[in-house]
Amino acid sequence: MTWPSNTPKPVSDEQWDDWQRRFAESDAAAGFEVARDFVPFNQMNDMFTRAFWDPSVKSKHTDGFFASYRMEAAPRRGAGFSQKDFALRNAAWSLSDIISDRAAATGLREGFQGPIANDTPVAPMQADLNEPADETREIKALAKLFGADLVGVTEIDERWHYSHRPDVRDMTPTENVLPEGITHVIVMGHAMDFDLVETYPSALAGASTGREYSHEASISIGLAAYIRNLGYQAVASMNDTALVIPYAIKAGLGEYGRNQMVLTPEFGPRVRFSKIFTNLPLMADAPRKLGMSAYCNDCTVCADACPPKALPHGAPDAGPDSVSTQKSVKKWSADCEKCFGYWAKIKTDCAICMRVCPFNRRGGRMDDLWRKLALGQLMGAHGPAIARWWEAKKGKRARLKPADWWADLGRQ
Ligand code: SF4
Ligand code: SF4
Repeated sequence: MTWPSNTPKPVSDEQWDDWQRRFAESDAAAGFEVARDFVPFNQMNDMFTRAFWDPSVKSKHTDGFFASYRMEAAPRRGAGFSQKDFALRNAAWSLSDIISDRAAATGLREGFQGPIANDTPVAPMQADLNEPADETREIKALAKLFGADLVGVTEIDERWHYSHRPDVRDMTPTENVLPEGITHVIVMGHAMDFDLVETYPSALAGASTGREYSHEASISIGLAAYIRNLGYQAVASMNDTALVIPYAIKAGLGEYGRNQMVLTPEFGPRVRFSKIFTNLPLMADAPRKLGMSAYCNDCTVCADACPPKALPHGAPDAGPDSVSTQKSVKKWSADCEKCFGYWAKIKTDCAICMRVCPFNRRGGRMDDLWRKLALGQLMGAHGPAIARWWEAKKGKRARLKPADWWADLGRQ
């Protein structure tokens, strides 16, 4: 089922030519293949939004899933699903919830289905700035001062902006607009806690996601306020407004993986991203060829481990015929209906495909050695095959028992 206004409008030749002129070179560097029939994605069609309006998705399970994040926790038997596990997960989401709830009466779910509103105005006078390269270095250092783990900068690319977002009062489509004149996007990465992620799937593990959304809210609001105080526009954004994956890749933070996540050299897929849309004069980073997507070509660990078998085993392609799939971009695509159906069933987010990915490592000496092999920085072209052999020899990565996570708490 689709809303009548979800029908995408074809892109004009003039618009397409403009995109080619601006992005063909960096698309090639990033490995993006975008076909001529591409149209920007309508956020009405993402799985979380569909769960509110599409009867083919909405069910007592999806209603129960969302309710479980709002104190109607559903403790049950099963390790990692006790009242304490749900309590920690929901507490970790607290700051993010405060931001996303505060303007709901106006139809905006800030940070998820609409950008975070400017709490402070743009200063009337513009500060004296450094040259863009120096200003960019400074902004990146400040992003880290506020708490970001990774930072990159890229140019505005409206292809990845949602054509519409939902008005959350009645879940109808509404325009998705940013202030005029935005030129750059600052993309920030937020590393999830290694040990909590080891307990996926569990309500406890969801605390690793909630903690980073709360961090995203705090860090992006702080850095955006700094930029507005310099006299420049800055809109803080989490999952809203635009697809963050292409932006993170263009900003040089990582490569696309079979598990549909950005794989970063530092944390593998164990990272979430926020962004700031700004007109501050900055210098864009270049996408990087790191060898992680290439490793995925010969690895199916995530797809093999996915309980509902939602991830593809083959080469990148057009993906399943679903309104929730971004069409006309060649890539690995999950079967979103199967994936979210599993989340709704277990009443918490699942990230087994993040946990089992061999690039998700703690970061010790042997982990660094494995990573260098996998990326071909050691043993050249033989490195990835040796890394795969080493990983296979270790066998399946076992889930950390939630009871052991609680038992270790405060003892390390
Ligand atoms: S999140 Fe879970 S259900 Fe979804 S693709 Fe990953 S492993 Fe599969
Ligand atoms: S598990 Fe393997 S295939 Fe999946 S994202 Fe990680 S490296 Fe790529």
